[in-house]
Amino acid sequence: MTPHLLQTLDLPSLQNLVVEWGLPKFRAQQIRSWIVENRAESFDDMANLPKALRGQLAEKAQLWTTQIAKHTTAADGTEKLLLQLHDGGRIECVLLRDGDRRTICISSQVGCAMGCVFCASGLDGVDRNLTVGEIIEQMLRLQRLLPVGERLSHIVVMGMGEPLANIDRLLPALDFASAEDGLGISHRRITISTVGLPPAIRRLADRDSRYHLAVSLHAPDDELRNQIVPTNKKVGIQAILEAADHYFDVSGRRLTFEYVLLAELNDRPEHAHRLAKLLRGRPALLNIIPYNPVAGLPYRTPSKEAQHEFRAILENAGLTVKFRQRKGDKINAACGQLRRNTPENLVQISG
Ligand code: SAH
Repeated sequence: MTPHLLQTLDLPSLQNLVVEWGLPKFRAQQIRSWIVENRAESFDDMANLPKALRGQLAEKAQLWTTQIAKHTTAADGTEKLLLQLHDGGRIECVLLRDGDRRTICISSQVGCAMGCVFCASGLDGVDRNLTVGEIIEQMLRLQRLLPVGERLSHIVVMGMGEPLANIDRLLPALDFASAEDGLGISHRRITISTVGLPPAIRRLADRDSRYHLAVSLHAPDDELRNQIVPTNKKVGIQAILEAADHYFDVSGRRLTFEYVLLAELNDRPEHAHRLAKLLRGRPALLNIIPYNPVAGLPYRTPSKEAQHEFRAILENAGLTVKFRQRKGDKINAACGQLRRNTPENLVQISG
C-alpha cells in the first residue's frame, strides 16, 4: 500500500517525505495548506502544483484511506459518517452543530476492549488501534462537511474505542488538531474521554496536560462499577480518582466525570447520595448522560422523574451537574450504534 499522507502531515515529517521524493522542501507547505485550509479532495485539486507533479504525488501517496460507507444527517444538524477502513474495519465519527459550536466526535480504535456492558462499541471487542492518519482523516472528513469559512471549534474523543489505550497515536493527531497551522482548535476545547486507566492518565499529565479530561465513572462504588465497567476489577475507583486528581494538579483544569444513567441499575437516590460523597470537594463537573438504548441490550433510560430526583440530590449536595443533551439519536449518532445497524457489505452515500 502506498503511504498515507495524513500519517505524516506535520510539517517537518512532510518536508522529509517530499525531500525523499526528490522535491524541493517548500512543496510540503503547499501540499499541507491545500489539504488543511483549502480542503482539497485530491492531489489533482492542488492547482498551483505543476500537473506532472500532481500525477507523481498521486502515485507516491494516498490522501484518503477510508471510504464513506454511510453518511446520515439528522434534523438538528448532526451528521454522522460511517467510515470503512482499508482493511474492512469500520468506525464512526460525528459532527454536531450547537449555536456557534461545531463539535466533532471521533473514534480512537476499531471496536473497544473495555466491555462496558451497556455500550454498543465494545460488543465485539477490539480489532485494532487507529493510526495517526486515520484519526486525522476523521477530523478532515468532518471538516469538509462544513461550508467554506466555517471552522471546527471543539473535539471530543468519545467515539469508538478507549482513547488512552491508543495514546501514542491519539496525541500526535491531537497535536495536529491544536496546532496553529493545523486545525487551530485550542487544547481546552479538546476533550479526551476515558474509562479510567490510571497509568495512561499520568502519562497524559506528563506529556500534555492542556487537554480537557473526562472520566467515565458510571457508579459510586467498586461493587457496582465492576458490574457495569468490567475493567474496573483490575483498577478500582480509588486509583482512578487519584490519577484524575493528579491530572487536575498538573493541569489546573476542572475535570469532568461522566455518569451514564441506567434505569434501576445506577439511578437510585442511594447511588446519587454515594456519588455526591465520593466527588465532594473536587472541583469537577458531573456530566450525566441518560442512557441511549442499544438494540439487543437489556438496559433502559430512566424516567424523567428518576432523572430529576438524581439531579436534585447531587445539586443539593453542592455538585456542578450537567445533563448531556441528546443529539442525533434518530440517526444512531451514539456510541457505536451506526456500525451495528449497517450491513457489512453496504457502501452507500446519501444526503
Ligand atoms: N472509552 C471512552 C469513550 C467512550 S464514549 C470512555 O469510556 O470514556 C463517551 C461516553 O459515552 C462514555 O462515558 C461512555 O460510557 C458513554 N456511552 C457509551 N454508550 C452509551 C449509550 N448507549 N448511552 C449513553 N452513553 C453511552
